[in-house]
Formats: sequence, C-alpha cells, structure tokens
Amino acid sequence: MKVYDVIIVGAGIAGCSSAYFLKQRGLEVLVLDRSGVAATGGSSAAGAFVSPKIGKGSSLQSLTNEAFEFAKKFYLEHFPEHFKQTGIIRIPKDEKDAEKFSIYEAFNSSSRELLKTEELEEIGIKKSFDSFLFDEAGVCDAPKMCEAFLNGIEYEQYEVKSLVYERNRWKIGKFKAKKLVLATGYENKFFDMRYMGVKGTWGSRGDYETSLNLDVSMHKQISVSANIDGIIKVGATHEKEINTCVRCNGEPLKALFSVASLMVDTSDFKLKETFCGMRSGSKDYFPLLGGVIDVSEMLDEHPKLPRGERLKKAPKKMENLYVCNGLGGRGFVFAPLMGKMLADNIVDGKEIDKRVNPDRLFLKWCRKSEDLESYR
Ligand SMILES: Cc1cc2nc3c(=O)[nH]c(=O)nc-3n(C[C@H](O)[C@H](O)[C@H](O)COP(=O)(O)OP(=O)(O)OC[C@H]3O[C@@H](n4cnc5c(N)ncnc54)[C@H](O)[C@@H]3O)c2cc1C
Repeated sequence: MKVYDVIIVGAGIAGCSSAYFLKQRGLEVLVLDRSGVAATGGSSAAGAFVSPKIGKGSSLQSLTNEAFEFAKKFYLEHFPEHFKQTGIIRIPKDEKDAEKFSIYEAFNSSSRELLKTEELEEIGIKKSFDSFLFDEAGVCDAPKMCEAFLNGIEYEQYEVKSLVYERNRWKIGKFKAKKLVLATGYENKFFDMRYMGVKGTWGSRGDYETSLNLDVSMHKQISVSANIDGIIKVGATHEKEINTCVRCNGEPLKALFSVASLMVDTSDFKLKETFCGMRSGSKDYFPLLGGVIDVSEMLDEHPKLPRGERLKKAPKKMENLYVCNGLGGRGFVFAPLMGKMLADNIVDGKEIDKRVNPDRLFLKWCRKSEDLESYR
C-alpha cells in the first residue's frame, strides 16, 4: 500500500496551494475533499479578489500586503490564465471613511493611484468619494485556479470521518501518509483546536450576465468585479454563522444587488448563478499555519496554564500534523505565501513565521477561555 509523504484534507485554496508548493519540493501528495475541488467551501463562493489591505500600518496590514505582493507575482508567473489583473478600486464606504483615506495613503505600499470622483464617474462608477485604484490587483477564477494548482497531484473525492496516527503513519481509511495537513476551512472536528478560535462567516455571490462595459473591479462594502467574458461577480461575506451553509435560492443576494446598483449601472444584469459559502477566520484575523498543539497533554502536564503558568519551551505538538486555515476574507491573497511557508517548514525545517503560527493563541486561550474554567 502506497504511503504518501503528505495527505491534505480540504481542496479549497488553502489545501490546493499547500499541495502545489509541497509537490514542487518533490513530495508525494494526496488531496482529499468530500465535495470536490473548490466545490462547496469558502473557495467556491469567493469573488477571489486579490488586492492589498488599506489601513494605518497594522501588523496585519503589512503581512497582508507581503502576501499580496507574493500572490500577484506568483499568479502572473504560473497561472496568468486564471488571474485577471483588472485593477481594483477601493471606494470609501461613506464620508467618514473617505476622511480616513488621506491617513491611509501614508501606509499604502502597493502601486496605486488616487482617483477623483469625477474620474470614477467617467469609468461608470456612480457618485462616490475619492478612491484608491490598485492597478496591479486583480481577480482569480477561484475553481479554475484551485484545479490548476492540483494539476499532476493525486486527488480523491472522500469525506474524512476519522484519522488515526499509528507507527509514524497517518491512516485515513485506505490512505496512508507520513504527514497530514488539515485545510478544512471553518470545520475542525478532528482535534481540540479551540485555541485557534476558528469561526465561520457566511457570504454569498451572484454571477450576472451583462453587456456593461466595466473593465475595472471595485470594493466598497461589497465587491463588484470587472466584466470578464460577459460576467460581473457581485459578492460579500457578512454574517457570523455556525450552521453549515447550503446553496441558497439567491434570496440573500437581493440586498447585495441593491448596493451594487448604487455603484454601477445594473439595468441589464441577469442573474446566472448564485454561490454561498463560509470563510473561516481566526481569533486575531491572522492566518493559521503550522503544527497543532496537543492540548490535552499540555493541560495534563501543565494544569496551572489556565492560572497563568508560563511555558519555558515551545508547547508540545501532535506529531506530523499541520494546519493551513484562517485565511479570512483574503484566502486568495494569503494562500500562495502560506503554501510556500508550509513547504519551507516541512521540507527545510524553516521556522514558521510567528505572525501566523497558531501557537501565538494558545496561552491566551488557556488563561481566558471559559472552556477551561474548571482548571482555575
Ligand atoms: C462570499 C465570499 C466572498 C469572498 N471573497 C474573497 C475575495 O474576494 N478574495 C479573497 O481572497 N477571499 C475571499 N473570500 C474568502 C475566501 O473564500 C476564503 O478565505 C478561502 O476560500 C478559504 O479557503 P480554505 O481552503 O481555507 O477553505 P474552504 O474553501 O472552505 O475549503 C475547505 C474544504 O475542506 C473540505 N472539507 C472539510 N471537512 C472535510 C472532511 N471531513 N473531509 C473532506 N473534506 C473536508 C470542504 O469540502 C472544503 O472544500 C470570500 C469568501 C466568501 C464566502
């Protein structure tokens, strides 16, 4: 029976990107997903905009913008057919937000231009505020990008129900591997990963057929893509949810469509298809990449952790188990950099960047979580 170097559970953008970079480094990889490649998760619903983050220079902004620079170059070099560099206009939500844009300008590191409201009107964007145009940003075709990542990589449609680690091997039904990567999005039922605080945020997208001549994408409270092959994508994530999301009949899109209509001329838009999905975010909005702490063993060995005990060494991890998750509203921005970091860690032993290593959340969870009240 074949033993893979790595099995990855989840064929959204996180799993596919991890698989791509591990395969590039010569590992034998198998990807499993219960529903298909980018078929139902956050990656199926994503508008898949790839743009920088604006703000006042937070650490999350600088990581996001590093990831953006990496992703943009990576997509253009390896998968230009699935990444359209349409440019993305970041439009202030309201007057108050517009005032902040002059502050944000000092922290913009990506190529951009300030567009006046009159210039926006000329390209078909209705009355708005002065906005940033990030000309190197663009939009991925989410499922095609995920499929392209998996080219030459073994894939099986398979729902993982249980995982066993025995004699240095992970066993999932008939499959075996030395290492396991969980890229399961908002669902984490296999191990105690409460400390990562993964939560789902539900969103929807509509693809509209239209002849509107719009060659730039934009984001206000919602995203409206450029017209690519006669289709404009309108989408947003908005609601915190814990229940599994099902494909809807387009009802939640009505509100999004009204907002889109205030942004561009939607008079000939005809709804072609709707998508719903959950994206998963971490407690602090940074991605989650790296090993998984053996929580029960840590609490057995250090029962005073919930009362503030300090650790003298790194927390104990489950053997050969990794997570790539928590990509939030920017899965298509973060995934290539996360995939590369994971491969550098697994193949070269390079330390995972502390900003994304889930260890950062463990002690705080031990001290604050109501789940551990009995230890206090
Ligand atoms: C409406 C919407 C718009 C968005 N717009 C953007 C955007 O413009 N730009 C951007 O960068 N990001 C965007 N996002 C966010 C982006 O979609 C997510 O960050 C990204 O898809 C997360 O990818 P993932 O691989 O972590 O999770 P997912 O895509 O959810 O993939 C997880 C996979 O794991 C599989 N799985 C789970 N459990 C099991 C199991 N037990 N066995 C087998 N398979 C399993 C699921 O079937 C699923 O395919 C948007 C999200 C939504 C919902």
